[in-house]
Amino acid sequence: MTQINDKLIREMVEQVLQHVQTGWGGRVAPKTGQAAPAVVAAGAGQPAGNRFGQFTDVNEAVSAARDAQRALMRRSLAQRDIACNLIRQICINRADELGRMEYEETRLGHPPHKSEKLISAGRHAAGVEGLRTECFSGDHGITLEEHGPWGVIGVVTPVTHSLPTLAFNAVNMIAAGNALVCNPHPAGKKIAAFGARLFNQAIYEKLGIDNLICVITTPTLESAGAIFKHPDIRLLCVTGGPGVVAAALKSGKRAICAGPGNPPVVVDSSAPIENAARCIIDGASYDNNVLCLAEKEVFIEASVFDAMIDAMTRAGAYRLTTAQMDELARVCIEPAKDGDIPHANKKFVGAEPQLLAQQIGATVPPTCRLLFGQTDSSHPFVQAEQMMPVIPFVRCETFEQAVELAVQAEHGYGHTSIIHSRLVDHMTYMGKAMDTTLFIKNGPSAAGDGIGGEGYCNYTIACSTGEGVVTPITFTRFRRCTMVDNLRII
Ligand code: NAD
Repeated sequence: MTQINDKLIREMVEQVLQHVQTGWGGRVAPKTGQAAPAVVAAGAGQPAGNRFGQFTDVNEAVSAARDAQRALMRRSLAQRDIACNLIRQICINRADELGRMEYEETRLGHPPHKSEKLISAGRHAAGVEGLRTECFSGDHGITLEEHGPWGVIGVVTPVTHSLPTLAFNAVNMIAAGNALVCNPHPAGKKIAAFGARLFNQAIYEKLGIDNLICVITTPTLESAGAIFKHPDIRLLCVTGGPGVVAAALKSGKRAICAGPGNPPVVVDSSAPIENAARCIIDGASYDNNVLCLAEKEVFIEASVFDAMIDAMTRAGAYRLTTAQMDELARVCIEPAKDGDIPHANKKFVGAEPQLLAQQIGATVPPTCRLLFGQTDSSHPFVQAEQMMPVIPFVRCETFEQAVELAVQAEHGYGHTSIIHSRLVDHMTYMGKAMDTTLFIKNGPSAAGDGIGGEGYCNYTIACSTGEGVVTPITFTRFRRCTMVDNLRII
């Protein structure tokens, strides 16, 4: 009978660790040059983990990320999967703490939604299961089309969801075999750096690779510029407003750009009114309207305008008069300059509706999540991407006029639009006219991003450069592998 002793226990622990760390389970890993990369034991050939992705210097960060990415490429797909799962688990298990930290630092949005967004990243961020290989088989053999990594990806994240965006990006990018260097928004830098520290530490402890997710802890426009110009970065992924999109596109590198939106809603005379009101409140009030895809203005056919106003009030939104909407816009929206689009006063982005109402001397119940009121179509709240829980309602003579005004208010961003209607021909008409990345029918905007609707989810919606809701494949290079006149076995 086998005696349990220290040696045996040590051997058993080593076997379990080997099983977890290599990702090969009980099987023997193929040798180098045979069929798969060699398996490297945790930590082997790696500098000791002590940075956990924290850098002030872009060159140092890129160099560390490049080493980490090379180490990742020597590991199995199963190990990439382990790294992705560690990030997802931290997002879920520490959502309350991290969500609270994000709110305390950024002071925007609705606190309970901060942890929800992290849970969403933990549940929905696509990992290696999001990769796929295409194959052609015929008389001339076999061709595989695979998706390979770019190497180190330069990332810029917004203040509106600093850590959720970084987590989603990191899972997608690592799944695809990349490492990343992120320049977070300066107002969300602490939570981005802290989250990256947790992710890197967990990955290092399990797999022995540090610095897959590097964060510039003192981000500036200059450090963003240094990332954009760095020769070892071949792909950029930026999520933010028009400034960062323009800067990334000028860099001369391939750039995946998730830029601004100003999503219009059209409600036609056939719409299920109560559902439309509930959906608009859900979408436009979520995290105090900071989501890029959230409803920002509503165009309503005249015959149902009054019914929509009543339904909104019944569903819990607070109606402001037209004069109050004007007064609030003077406080919360910066006027357009030289033909430009007006934009939100940063002080009120993501503010609670009660605080907004206070600015004009109104008092709204603590349960209220959204303010709304009638305006004309040229109103600052219609034209600006307000990112605050107040939404203008515009009365339109016809459905066609509503769509025309919606197209104009969307400013060609190609981001998101929404319709409430029972008429399929109206949906088709508007879908064609808007030409947006997401087009949602009879639901809240988030349904178009897989939350309460079908399909996958990501907080980086690359509307500006056309990749759409990003996935691991978005962060890959196309690679083709051809065997001539052989290996077709049928
Ligand atoms: P922002 O444009 O102020 O900042 C976004 C990021 O870009 C920050 O990290 C900022 O430091 C950086 N940045 C800004 N100008 C830059 C420049 N010239 N060069 C280099 N970096 C620069 O936006 P924000 O307030 O953080 O986020 C809100 C904006 O982001 C909204 O317009 C929203 O629609 C958009 N957004 C889009 C998506 C999407 O998926 N399409 C997702 C989230 C947010």
